[in-house]
This record gives sequence, structure tokens and C-alpha cells, in this order.
Amino acid sequence: MKVLTIPVTPFAQNCRVIACDETGKAAIVDPGGDAEKIIALVKQHNLSIEFILLTHGHLDHVGASKLLAKEFGVEIIGPHAEDKFWLDGLPMQAQMFGFAPHDAFLPHRWLDEGDVVALGKLQLQVRHCPGHTPGHVVFYEPASATVLVGDVLFKGSVGRTDFPKGDASQLKHAINTKLFTLDDETKVMSGHGEDTTIGYEKRNNPFMSGRFG
Ligand SMILES: [Zn+2]
Ligand SMILES: [Zn+2]
Repeated sequence: MKVLTIPVTPFAQNCRVIACDETGKAAIVDPGGDAEKIIALVKQHNLSIEFILLTHGHLDHVGASKLLAKEFGVEIIGPHAEDKFWLDGLPMQAQMFGFAPHDAFLPHRWLDEGDVVALGKLQLQVRHCPGHTPGHVVFYEPASATVLVGDVLFKGSVGRTDFPKGDASQLKHAINTKLFTLDDETKVMSGHGEDTTIGYEKRNNPFMSGRFG
């Protein structure tokens, strides 16, 4: 799996363009904004965009979805339906985060635990990881041992749980049961900051080792 990273929005959210090496079929994961940068990168690498994937409903992850869906003529897939209230609330989120006004939208398809999204020869396994938001999903791709985790887990940290319907114990449970069950070598690509690995976070993440809450 080829992964291109484009930091977007003032929050430096890591939008990822992922592609199947064999077929060139690609998807855009969490296009939070800066649509023109994403379009330029896709054209530069001559990729064929098949769909847009969303991990959760926060504006810095979804802000350019509608525009890019129209540009590439593709569907928006995910997150889990429990995040509908965040997508319905996009106009409010724009105010809350100090972004330009943004309309509400819904994806063409919600995702659920156990779903598998095919991208060329790649199989993206969907894992529901609530806690940061109730409908947060992550995408695990076994062939490249990579998991795209959005705002569930960061290098040395975890997602905020002080938003509406956030839940710290749910988040911790999701990380323990849906992420820390993956091999230590699994590459973790987060919505903000550097990449890490499951093994590194198991050993070093203070929010998961009991040193904090
Ligand atoms: Zn978020
Ligand atoms: Zn974020």
C-alpha cells in the first residue's frame, strides 16, 4: 500500500491518500480541508480515486469531502452512524473550531465493525473505536500491516474525550481490544503528529500504561 500524507487545515490534520500498488486504485482518507493541495497530489501521482473514507465526523477530518467527492465523482464512505450528530452539526463545528462556514452533509454509506472495504487488491478492515467520538472507525490493512487511526491514538497520547458523547473509558477499551491486539510491528498512522507503531505505544504511551487515568 502506498501512503501519501498531506497535512491539511490549521490543525495540521494528516489527510492520507492511500493506493493499491498493483492497480493504482486509490482512496482519500480524512480530507479535512485544502482540497486544491489534495487534488494536485492525486494528479501528480496519476492515481485513480475510487472513494473517500472518513474516520469520524470532526470538521478537520471531513471539511473537503463534499468538494472532492464532486471533483472525482466518487462516494463518501464512513464513519459509523453514531457520528451522524457531528456531521449534522458541521455548521456549529465551523464556528467552534474557527473555520470558514461549512454545510452539513451525510456520507453515501455508513460503516460498522467488521466491514471490509476493498481498494484494488487491498482489504481495509473496519474497526469501530468509540470514545473520542461515538462513531469513530479505524482502517486496518493487513498486507502492509498498517492501521489508520484518526484521533483514537497518537504517538505518546490518545484522543480527547471531553467533547459531547466522548468517553475516556470507552476509548481506552477500544484501544486495548481493537488496536493493541494487532502485532507490535503494525504501523500506526494518526490524524495528527508522527507515525508510530503498536509496540511503541504499548510500551511508552502514558495514557495507556496506567500513569494517567
Ligand atoms: Zn477528532
Ligand atoms: Zn483531528
